[in-house]
Amino acid sequence: MAEGGAGRCDALIIGAGHNGLVCAAYLAAAGLKVTVLERRAVVGGAAVTEEFHPGFRNSVASYTVSLLNPKVIRDLDLPGHGLKVVERRLSNFLPTADGRYIVTGGGRTHAEVAKFSTRDAARLADYGERLEAIADVLRDLVLTTPPNALEGSWREALPELVRAARLGGRVRKLDMEQRRELLALFSMSAGDYLDNFFESDPIKAVYGFDGIVGNYASPYTPGSAYVLLHHVFGEVNGKRGAWGHAIGGMGAITQAMARAAVARGVDIRVDTPVREVLVEGDRAVGVVTESGETLRAAAVISNLNPRLLYTKMFAPQALPPQFRDHMSHYRCGSGTFRMNVALKELPDFTCLPGKSVADHHTAGIILAPTLRYMERAYFDAREHGWSRAPIVELVIPSTLDDSLAPAGRHVASLFCQHVAPTLPNGESWDTHRETVADLMIDTVNAYAPNFKAAVLGRQIMSPLDLERTFGLVNGDIMHGVLSLDQLFSARPMLGFGNYRGPLTGLYMCGAGTHPGGGVTGAPGHNAAHEIIGDFRRGRVRRVA
Ligand SMILES: Cc1cc2nc3c(=O)[nH]c(=O)nc-3n(C[C@H](O)[C@H](O)[C@H](O)COP(=O)(O)OP(=O)(O)OC[C@H]3O[C@@H](n4cnc5c(N)ncnc54)[C@H](O)[C@@H]3O)c2cc1C
Repeated sequence: MAEGGAGRCDALIIGAGHNGLVCAAYLAAAGLKVTVLERRAVVGGAAVTEEFHPGFRNSVASYTVSLLNPKVIRDLDLPGHGLKVVERRLSNFLPTADGRYIVTGGGRTHAEVAKFSTRDAARLADYGERLEAIADVLRDLVLTTPPNALEGSWREALPELVRAARLGGRVRKLDMEQRRELLALFSMSAGDYLDNFFESDPIKAVYGFDGIVGNYASPYTPGSAYVLLHHVFGEVNGKRGAWGHAIGGMGAITQAMARAAVARGVDIRVDTPVREVLVEGDRAVGVVTESGETLRAAAVISNLNPRLLYTKMFAPQALPPQFRDHMSHYRCGSGTFRMNVALKELPDFTCLPGKSVADHHTAGIILAPTLRYMERAYFDAREHGWSRAPIVELVIPSTLDDSLAPAGRHVASLFCQHVAPTLPNGESWDTHRETVADLMIDTVNAYAPNFKAAVLGRQIMSPLDLERTFGLVNGDIMHGVLSLDQLFSARPMLGFGNYRGPLTGLYMCGAGTHPGGGVTGAPGHNAAHEIIGDFRRGRVRRVA
C-alpha cells in the first residue's frame, strides 16, 4: 500500500517489535487497514533469532520465554502459526562460592534448599503462596488499561473512575495480610524481602537475581522487589512461574506473530525506518520515512521506546514543551551486556561435572553466588563502568532445541549484569566491549574451566550495540526503568498511561507502556483495545 502517500491506511505502526505485531494483528482483526514499518531487515525487535556465527543461530537479544500472555497466544493462534514452547528441565542452577551448587525446579527445590538450610526449605511453600497471591493481582492487571490521571471534564474522568474502582475492587479481594504483601512487593528491595523469608545465601541469590534482571540496581535498592515480581507472573504451557524455550528461538514467536498479522491483512514493510511523525495542528497524521516517503494514517502508533519517539521523531514545536522535557528525562538503562557464543562442547562445571547434556545444562545458570555479590557488582559498575566480578546468566538453548547449532555443537546466551548504561568520563563502549566480553567469558570459565577453549565464535552487544541494533535507548531492555514513577498509570508518564500520546491520533504500543518490558504482548494487546475503541467512538476516523 501507500506509495508516496497515495494509499492511506487506518493505522500505521512504527516498529515491528513483538508488541507492534500484536497490536497490528488485533487492529486488523477488528477490520482496520494496518501498515507496519520496521527499520531492520527482520521483524521482531528484541525477540529475534539470527545466525551470529556460521552455522550457529540463537535468540540474539531476549532469550527465554514465560511472560508471553496466554490470551495473546490464543487470540493470534500462535501455535497454529508454528510456535512451540518447551519447558526447561530445571528452572535454575547456581554454583556457590564454596564449590557446591543449588538447583531449583523439576520437583527438586525443597531438597536442594534443605542442603543449605532446613528452615529455609520449610519456608518455601509460604514464600511461594504469598508471591503467587500478588502475582495473581498482576496477572489480572496485565491486560488492563491503567486508570489514567486526567485533568478535564467529568465526562472524560468518568471512565477513568470506573477503571480505578475496578482496580480498588481487585485489591479489596485480598485479605489484610496480602495487602501488606502487595505494599511490600511494590516498595521494598528484593534483598530485604528475601532476607525476611530466608537465611541461606543460595536460594536468596536464585530468587534475588529476578530483582536485578534488566534492573541496574542493587538487590537492596528499594523497588527491586517489584522487578522480582515482574519476572514471576508468567507461565509456560499453563505452568505458572516457569520459564521455557521457543523452538527455533525467540524469533519463532515473532515470526508466528507476523504470520498471524499478515493472515489478517496487515502490510508489513521491513527496511523502512521512520524519520519523523507528521503533525498537523494537534493531530498526528502520518509519518515520513528515512527515504523521504510520506505515509498518512488516521492513527499513528509507536512501538518505540517513548524517549526515542518523543525526543527524536517530532519537530521540536510539535509537542507541548513540558511534555517533551519530561520525556527527555524518562529513565532508561538496564545495565545489560549481552553475548552469544558458539560452543564446541558444553561447559563442564567443577561443582557438577559432565559434558553430556544434563538437566542443569537446560536451566538458567546463574553465576552470582550471593545477594551481597550482586550488590557489590552494582556499586563497582557505577564507579568503574562495569563490575569486575560481574553477574552472568548462562542459558544453553541448544540443549532443548537441535535446530540452533550443528550436531554435537551448542549455542549459549550470556546475559550479563551489571554494566553502566553509559561509561564514566564520557568513554565509549566501543573502546571497552572486547575487554568486557573477555571478562564475561573468564567469569564463566572460573566455574567451568573448559568454557573459554570451547568458544568457537562470539557476538558482543554492549549497551551501545543494543541501542544501535534495536533502538533500545541506553541499551534498556525494558524500554524504561521499572520503577514506581514509571509504572502502571505513570508508564511512560502520569496523564499518558492509557496508550495515548499528547496529540490526537497518536498512540503507543511498546514496552514503554503498561505493563512494561518482557516478551508479553500485553502492551500491544491493550493499545489495540484502546485504539479500536477510539475508532468505534469516532475519536479517530477511518480513512481507508
Ligand atoms: C538483551 C535482551 C535480553 C532480554 N531478555 C528477555 C527474555 O529473556 N525474556 C523476555 O521476556 N524479555 C526479554 N527482554 C525484554 C524484551 O525483549 C523486550 O522488553 C521486548 O522485546 C520489547 O518489545 P517491544 O515490541 O515493545 O519493542 P522492541 O522489541 O524494542 O521493538 C521495537 C521495534 O521498533 C523498531 N524501530 C526502532 N526505531 C524505528 C524507526 N525509526 N522506524 C521503524 N522501526 C523502528 C526496532 O527495530 C524494533 O523492531 C530482553 C531484551 C533484551 C534487549
